[in-house]
Amino acid sequence: MRLEVRELAFGRGVFAAEDLPVGLILTRYTGPAVPWSEVPEAEVAHVIKQGQRWVIPGAPARLINHGCAPNCDVDDTLGVLALRPIRAGEELTIDYHTASAADVAADPAAYFWDPRWTFACQCGAADCRRRIDGWRVV
Ligand SMILES: [Zn+2]
Repeated sequence: MRLEVRELAFGRGVFAAEDLPVGLILTRYTGPAVPWSEVPEAEVAHVIKQGQRWVIPGAPARLINHGCAPNCDVDDTLGVLALRPIRAGEELTIDYHTASAADVAADPAAYFWDPRWTFACQCGAADCRRRIDGWRVV
């Protein structure tokens, strides 16, 4: 088992149970895919977009927390990849709301912001954005 779920002060998180190499697909967002209009209220904060549908992911991927200096990213197939070597005991994090300028230019309507996604970040990164209330385009 490469990953483990731990209880945190506010919810849960996913941690490396062993040293993980860069580039490895650690897990994948999988679950039912629905149009935005059919995303249940309780799932709004968990869904991830793939094409024109929204995947309602199961654990452990749905439990991976946001980080402003993440050690993981999500590929086009919704695989979670290590961006750098991750040490045993480190929490896995993904930047939920950063997009490439090319992706935004190709489909600006896909990068709308739902106010229910806004949250105060406490990831502890030196460059933490503090308040996540819109897409950061890079
Ligand atoms: Zn942060």
